[in-house]
Amino acid sequence: MPLRDRHGPLVVATFSRRMALRLEDGEQVTARVKGKRIQPVCGDHVEAEPIANEPEWLITAILPRSNELCRPNTRGKIEVLAANLSFLAVVAADPPVPDWFIVDRYLCAAELMGVSAAVVFNKTDLAEPGDVTKDTLRDYERIGYRTLLCSAKAGSNLDVLQNLFANQTAIIVGQSGVGKSSLINRLAESADQPTAAVSKRSGEGRHTTVNSVMLALPNGGAVIDSPGVRDYAPSTGDAQDVIRGFPEIGKYGADCKFSDCRHLREPNCAVKAAIEAGEISARRYESYKRLLALTKKLTEGRY
Ligand code: GDP
Ligand code: ZN
Repeated sequence: MPLRDRHGPLVVATFSRRMALRLEDGEQVTARVKGKRIQPVCGDHVEAEPIANEPEWLITAILPRSNELCRPNTRGKIEVLAANLSFLAVVAADPPVPDWFIVDRYLCAAELMGVSAAVVFNKTDLAEPGDVTKDTLRDYERIGYRTLLCSAKAGSNLDVLQNLFANQTAIIVGQSGVGKSSLINRLAESADQPTAAVSKRSGEGRHTTVNSVMLALPNGGAVIDSPGVRDYAPSTGDAQDVIRGFPEIGKYGADCKFSDCRHLREPNCAVKAAIEAGEISARRYESYKRLLALTKKLTEGRY
């Protein structure tokens, strides 16, 4: 995307159809959205103009997005939760018992969005990670994901996490109870928050209409905090999406006999060979098959 498309006021908080905008000169204003056709989200760059004799601005258009974080809503429609992200951190911990399939699902979403991703294992103050966790994290490293052990409570390794987020627009996802809010609070407390963010953090804005807020981080980064984002189930389009969402499967899959191999029961499958050779994690392959089956169900409308 050409750089000029990314200019324009930035949506830094949404309260239903009211937004906080950061203008290009750094000033922050409130705005409302023109008409019903467009639904800006945090991270959007927009076209906006001041309204005569009113303190508010009017958002007239959303500039092209580089990516969207989506989830299916209760009516089966795709809902956009945040836009123009550059980094996704998936958090796991113990407790709750880690569900690595959920982690894989989020990583798949990150791949499809074209953003960098890291796996963060929180709550290390409670116990050192067990062997299964260590092996699993090593598998992620082998694929190319950064992994990190930290504790929001003890403050350990939060500086490393902060560095991962430097100059990024990040989102923190993962199972409920792993410590996402705790991490966001710890990371954001050390940065100066602009007004919209402060009003949410101080409690004044903590009414139900607050959807989402972009919090400033030290080192020039930002993290989008949204209840909807925290426990969303990412949507995958089709089988090709799932293959693209598992980079190690895509990589070995280039050598399969059939170019449209799904790495299930096809002969001369390079992915199956790589699993047998221990080059692809069998657990990741199980996640791949599970997500493929789930995606098939969803696209065939048998959900
Ligand atoms: P979220 O649902 O992922 O946003 O998780 P929360 O941030 O709400 O945390 C869930 C629970 O885990 C809360 O009781 C937190 O106090 C606790 N918690 C979060 N981070 C840590 C940590 O690093 N160590 C410990 N011991 N508890 C934590
Ligand atoms: Zn194959």
